[in-house]
Amino acid sequence: MASSNFIDYVKINCRSGAGGAGSVHFRREKFVDKGGPDGGDGGRGGHVILKANPQLWTLLHLKYQKHIKAENGQAGSGARCNGKQGNDVIIEVPLGTVAKHSETGEILAEVTEAGQEVILLKGGRGGLGNHHFKSSTNQTPLHAQPGEGGLEEWVVLELKLLADVGLVGFPNAGKSTLLSTVSAARPEIADYPFTTLVPNLGVVSYRDFKSFVMADIPGIIEGASQGKGLGLRFLRHIERNSILLFLIPATSEDVGKEYRTLLHELEVYDATLLDKAHLLAISKGDLVDEETKKEVLKKIPSEVPYVFTSSVTQEGINELKDLIWKTLNS
Ligand code: GDP
Ligand code: MG
Repeated sequence: MASSNFIDYVKINCRSGAGGAGSVHFRREKFVDKGGPDGGDGGRGGHVILKANPQLWTLLHLKYQKHIKAENGQAGSGARCNGKQGNDVIIEVPLGTVAKHSETGEILAEVTEAGQEVILLKGGRGGLGNHHFKSSTNQTPLHAQPGEGGLEEWVVLELKLLADVGLVGFPNAGKSTLLSTVSAARPEIADYPFTTLVPNLGVVSYRDFKSFVMADIPGIIEGASQGKGLGLRFLRHIERNSILLFLIPATSEDVGKEYRTLLHELEVYDATLLDKAHLLAISKGDLVDEETKKEVLKKIPSEVPYVFTSSVTQEGINELKDLIWKTLNS
């Protein structure tokens, strides 16, 4: 998965269609010399609609699409023929996409469920034809309504990941490796801090065709919550994860201390992150012997469920999936 393909922000100029004009027309028929007004209504302009597509994971497909325009409605005509409605345009986006007004930041729409559709910009109403304006004092109305104009806005689409499990840990903890071990995602892996500069998603299949989505978020480093670290920009991606999976290597000097540091980083950023369920994977279990594991155990905070894992030997991987599944469903 080429990380540069992860696009979570696009700005698009959207225009809904204008309504068609109402028609001014009078009935003309053989043997009817003074036909009444029969101008039809204009058709509604097309809406710009945001639709959640569960097959999509990024906004990449919209990156080069700067203008999106719905069709105008057609004008009405004689014999009370109403104009054709303008076609709507549907912008397909991943679940968890938020549309905002580009200048005010006002939230215009948000889609979170598969197939959900929200009108982003309404098409203009069609104008009424002249037959609506006939009255006892005016049998031959010479006017009809114009169609309502369409709307135009610069809209920002932003993706907040809807992963079920967000990985939290310092750089090099083994997050990307774990993600590639449990899912088909292939995040970049390197023995270098800040390797993961963009979040990666993986779908983890679980027993009997069940699955959950795991997100690898760039390493959170000390001070990230104050804006010092590269991880900051991506912290917002874990706002909606329902479980936070902390990864701390078994080789860490003090697992308990590292856990509390990570908690502190999250808290400073957004205290509500602490309300989520937390699980702890003591990673790289293959690098330590049983004696060291016993020492590590003594330092693990009592409140968090934990598993020793290794992406090399697969130790604890199934146990971890079980624990995640149990927690997601409790
Ligand atoms: P991240 O920064 O948390 O995403 O860490 P990475 O997944 O990029 O891993 C950092 C380094 O640790 C890489 O060199 C990996 O090969 C290594 N690593 C990851 N998981 C394990 C493991 O379970 N056992 C061992 N021995 N090495 C691991
Ligand atoms: Mg990584």
